[in-house]
Amino acid sequence: MTLVAPSRQITPDHREASRLKVLYLLGSSRTGSTVLDNILGEFDGFFSAGEVRFLWRRLLEERRCGCGQPIGDCEVWGPILRMFLGSSCDHVEAGRIVELQRKHVRTHHTLRLLRRKPGDSLSPPGLAHYAELTAAVYRGVADLTGARVIIDSSKRPSDGALLRLLPGIETYFVHLVRDPRAVAYSRQRKKLNPDREIPATMGGKNPVLCTFQWVVGNMGANALRRMHRNDRTMVIRYEDFTRNPRSSVEKITEMLGERPQSTPFLDDHTVQLGVHHTVSGNPIRFDTGPTELREDTRWVEGLSARDRWTVTLMTLPQLLHYRYSPRVNATGSQRN
Ligand SMILES: [Zn+2]
Repeated sequence: MTLVAPSRQITPDHREASRLKVLYLLGSSRTGSTVLDNILGEFDGFFSAGEVRFLWRRLLEERRCGCGQPIGDCEVWGPILRMFLGSSCDHVEAGRIVELQRKHVRTHHTLRLLRRKPGDSLSPPGLAHYAELTAAVYRGVADLTGARVIIDSSKRPSDGALLRLLPGIETYFVHLVRDPRAVAYSRQRKKLNPDREIPATMGGKNPVLCTFQWVVGNMGANALRRMHRNDRTMVIRYEDFTRNPRSSVEKITEMLGERPQSTPFLDDHTVQLGVHHTVSGNPIRFDTGPTELREDTRWVEGLSARDRWTVTLMTLPQLLHYRYSPRVNATGSQRN
């Protein structure tokens, strides 16, 4: 997206400004959220922000934006970070903000945040301050880029619960769900993440821990959706998204009340991706050009029988709820 006002002064207090739409992607990791974020960011007036939750931490870790620049040097995030941290992007202050996040907006704070109503004054002061910062970050992106829709693929239900409390923001949720056995396999596999000076390895996760996080993430997403306006939430299974990505994306833009004039889809399964200023996310966010979307079923052969049954037993009620079969056949598609 082209910047519309790179030199414009951004002020933190935007409560009286026009309402901004933020689409927040919920669910576990490895559900296709990064590519969905990037696809939506191709529409005019949409901004693919990646996992905004990690903005402050990625600055401290000196990791790269989706545009390839270190977060502090990015043409979008650099000015926004300097708005709060001063011209030198003070790392001590960034560390304080990370600490506020740890203290008030972690997954186990979700239910507490859900008990608050939009318009409630937030307390303690640390939470109120973090909420103001978050609202100002979104508004800063809108001011700088001209976006009217921001996509945030952070997925944590706690941040989503806070988002619905922010003044001046219309919040929408898409809850992405994927077969937990596929997620466990994907997170077991190691791959390089090129978002540091020296690329680090990601993955290698324990299937039991991954599955626990899958269960908690989806429970939190469900609770959040129940508390939100029905016409502003949607559940999409990864398997349905990858079978018919164009249709899934059209349903999302319809929910947002947007009618894009052009599409990044070259055909039903291929999308043209450009550079996006994603804070954090799957390494696929660095990919550009024609990108084909297909369901990744390598887990059917790759996940050991022991891990498959462990994950199946840990998730059985939710597995059935999301219409996945406990049994897996050769194509992994015993789903209705
Ligand atoms: Zn960037």
